[in-house]
Amino acid sequence: MAEQDYYDILGVSKDASEKDIKRAYRRLAAKYHPDVNHEPGAEEKFKKINEAYETLSDSQKRAQYDQFGSAGPQGGGQGFGGFGGGQAYSNFGGGFDDIFSQFFGGGGRSRRDPTAPRQGRDLQYAMTLDFMDAVFGKTTTIKYDRDAECKTCHGTGAKPGKSPVTCPRCHGAGVITSVRQTPLGNMQTQTTCPECNGSGKIIKPGDRCDTCHGAGHVHERHELEVKVPAGVDDGQQMRLQHQGDAGENGGPAGDLYIVFRVTPSREFRRDGSTIYVDRDISFAQAALGDEVKVKTVHGDVDLKIPAGTQSETNFRLRGKGVPHLNGNGNGDEHVTVHVKTPKSLNKRQREAMLAFAAASGENVKGVKKTVLDKLRDAFEDK
Ligand SMILES: [Zn+2]
Ligand SMILES: [Zn+2]
Repeated sequence: MAEQDYYDILGVSKDASEKDIKRAYRRLAAKYHPDVNHEPGAEEKFKKINEAYETLSDSQKRAQYDQFGSAGPQGGGQGFGGFGGGQAYSNFGGGFDDIFSQFFGGGGRSRRDPTAPRQGRDLQYAMTLDFMDAVFGKTTTIKYDRDAECKTCHGTGAKPGKSPVTCPRCHGAGVITSVRQTPLGNMQTQTTCPECNGSGKIIKPGDRCDTCHGAGHVHERHELEVKVPAGVDDGQQMRLQHQGDAGENGGPAGDLYIVFRVTPSREFRRDGSTIYVDRDISFAQAALGDEVKVKTVHGDVDLKIPAGTQSETNFRLRGKGVPHLNGNGNGDEHVTVHVKTPKSLNKRQREAMLAFAAASGENVKGVKKTVLDKLRDAFEDK
């Protein structure tokens, strides 16, 4: 085993204070913890970090490490470096749980007993939804990979009729205790039993389940019907209990988190349960009043435009927005009307406009007609 320098692993200098070491450890352990970091190699790195911290946080062990290195004065054997298997999770005392209580609000799963039932890993699934599907919800089937309990052995890893036996190496303890003589006196080191990985039980090679080869779980492509509730929004997530990876030692499966990505709409802008739309109206409609069709997610509705409506006036259509996630009615739709000025007028429109201006007591001069306007007027006259 190639030895890596403990100070390098934690990224601290040789004369780092206890506080510096603790700080560096907390930062790295949080970053590489297998519950949060699923990148390949992260777990290995996490073990190394714990191994380094275990030594450097103990002034006696640190003094010895500084003098002799991790292999200890006798060279080789079960030294301080021999911190393999599940040790980093299971036997690590101090800082671990309190770090994770900071992250996950306490009551984190204990990792101290490798034989204890352990919940499987949580998984995440990104689901893209059409705008309207997010508004009204839908039922859909998703497929994803997960570790599932082996149906042949029901998670025991043993062939039907066979069962795990007590580990001959650690006699069921899950750990191996070694006592070594050092210049500082006898030191007792506990390491996870490499034979049974701390479980205290093994399955004899001939007794292993043919389906999962003793693992107790199998990789599977899982199909699941998901009911997306009406009113979900972009970035929201939904937890489906026990649809993640299978647990260990009889523990429950982890959860599946579905994260929604909602495609924007061309017609509607959405903010939570409120929908915003724009509606163009003519000068005549604004001045005289009218009833116009307006798009809503629930279909077209009639909107009454009162006489004398100004451009950019907002109207609220109660209950024509997105259903509230709790099932308690709908949000509203806000309609902004834009009064459009005609870009060109034909002869009759122009005359009517001038008459309108005159009736309003205005002396509107207008501008010179373009050739195109004159041409259009000529056709209109026929
Ligand atoms: Zn099996
Ligand atoms: Zn063992």
